[in-house]
Amino acid sequence: DDAILIVGAGHAGGTAAALLRQHGHEGPITLAGAEALPPYQRPPLSKAWLKGEMAADALLLRPAAFYEDKRIVLRLGARVRSIDPAARQAALDGGAIIPYDRLILATGSRLRRLDVPGVGLPGVLMLRTAADAELIRAALAPGARLAVIGGGYIGLEVAASARALGAEVAVFEREARLLARVASVELSEHFERLHRGHGVRIELGAELDAIDARDGRAGAVRLRDGRRFDCDVILVGVGAQAEDSLAAAAGIACQDGILVDECAHTSHEGIHAIGDCTRRPVPRYGRSLRLESVPNALEQARQAAAHLCGKPEPRPEAPWFWSDQYDCRLQIAGLAFDVARTVVRGDPASGKFAVFHLDAENRAQAVEAVNSPQEFVAGRALVGAAATLDPARIADPAVPAKELAA
Ligand code: FAD
Repeated sequence: DDAILIVGAGHAGGTAAALLRQHGHEGPITLAGAEALPPYQRPPLSKAWLKGEMAADALLLRPAAFYEDKRIVLRLGARVRSIDPAARQAALDGGAIIPYDRLILATGSRLRRLDVPGVGLPGVLMLRTAADAELIRAALAPGARLAVIGGGYIGLEVAASARALGAEVAVFEREARLLARVASVELSEHFERLHRGHGVRIELGAELDAIDARDGRAGAVRLRDGRRFDCDVILVGVGAQAEDSLAAAAGIACQDGILVDECAHTSHEGIHAIGDCTRRPVPRYGRSLRLESVPNALEQARQAAAHLCGKPEPRPEAPWFWSDQYDCRLQIAGLAFDVARTVVRGDPASGKFAVFHLDAENRAQAVEAVNSPQEFVAGRALVGAAATLDPARIADPAVPAKELAA
């Protein structure tokens, strides 16, 4: 059987390795990852794990012994420097060569950096890996003043966890609302209320000008409008980009992400790409998109493993996502494309509500569910089926969520 090399031992890569064995692939599988840990989950790094509510071992996708049992060669601390599709081999930092028959790229994403003076000072932190999260947790003693740059999901989750740890928190967002790129106005307003209610200072329209030093460390955030806010530690959470540099250097087609088809196959025969590093078709919306989420990583791992093992393609899913902040669980089904109207179900002030996004024909495009698991479950099915809904029934809480399609 073919030798399969997976580059990137994250959520997508780790899952693909396990699925290949599950589908009966008998040949050698090598999983090469730059980090020190076997594949682990990132979502808890800003949530339960950061708050100290989860043991380090619980982060792992599978116990370390799993890989040995399944004859998956796990090479950790192994950064792939280049790939040579013609010769079918990869070179590691340090020069070791790994030959392969089939390649899966699962290199994830890399954090966007801010280009302002002071960003390199000690005490300016970012969050992508477990190692990053260790540094953040160590900095969040009770009373520590945390400045979060960027009011996206990761920034807000860290803000909530930091409050639970007793830190003072201020969030600085350049846009006029939190979560501006990824959530409806109703949802942005909910999270703004929620964080303010937990004592977080929120500054909107706040463009960072510089980070000022105090005793050689980050000591204050300075804004364009001249205002200055003292702090002890800074978290920069301003988004991520596809880590597609290996693929691009090897001549594989990339366009802000490695371009793949519905089977997670790239422009090069025998090379798949999965997870955050890709730009993929999302049939439900007739678009190619970058999705940075665990469900996406899992779906594409299933596509690649099935394709490589000659199994039927899994049915396409509508994208979904979640976030936990304080006692609030947000679940989102679908993406708010081509939205003609939104309908709110429940009272946002109660902290339990859902926002339904419909297109011009009243088809369900997306559902944002706040502490409303039934609306999420129903919403996923409705969005997946592009079901036509009656706005009046959505708005009527007496109509059970599971009967909204009728
Ligand atoms: P990753 O998990 O990032 O794995 C990629 C791996 O490839 C990394 O370990 C990297 O070191 C390695 N790599 C890169 N280049 C090379 C190379 N050249 N050689 C070797 N190895 C390499 N998603 C949700 O759905 N819900 C959430 O609540 C949520 N919360 C999150 C919270 C945080 C703090 C973070 C950081 C992410 C969160 N996400 C969440 C996003 C989710 O974790 C990612 O979408 C998911 O991890 C993507 O999996 P991946 O395998 O594509 O990438």
